[in-house]
Amino acid sequence: MHDSAVTQLSLIRQLKFCAGHRLYRHESKCAFFHGHNYRVDIEVVAAGGGVEVDSVGRIVDFSLIKQRMLSWLDANWDHAFLIFEEDSNALAAIRMVEPTKYFVMPSNPTAENMARYLLEVVAPGVLGNLGVVARKVAVWETDESCAVATLTGDAGGVGLALAAAVLIDDRYDR
Ligand SMILES: [Zn+2]
Repeated sequence: MHDSAVTQLSLIRQLKFCAGHRLYRHESKCAFFHGHNYRVDIEVVAAGGGVEVDSVGRIVDFSLIKQRMLSWLDANWDHAFLIFEEDSNALAAIRMVEPTKYFVMPSNPTAENMARYLLEVVAPGVLGNLGVVARKVAVWETDESCAVATLTGDAGGVGLALAAAVLIDDRYDR
């Protein structure tokens, strides 16, 4: 191994949920209400850096990542419709259905924006006190297609992202 080489450790956990959406202003069939069996891959690192493990040898127990992330997904996105806040037509339609479950997104519910939302808003909130930071979130919309959101920059950058995330979360919390 090279003298300056450093081994970085991270965990990846897969999570699955089902949700409906449509893409506001999409030029083709994604403008219609439809749904996907989504898969999320979330990668986490120790908040202090990529080399820390606990006395057992873990960054964090896999079950805690699953528990925290999946309970948020179950409560908010699973079997719900994800609708862009500017899509007033879809919002009016979904509010007519009883019972209904929907989640208002600050951006169009593409896989890209969903990955970004999970990384910047959801993960800091639900994983914060575990001593880990989500570094990357991939949202698989089909078996072939996924979008990836990655946190870049130093610890200061992470702090900024967390602060912004809390604001957004308050605004869209229902
Ligand atoms: Zn779709």
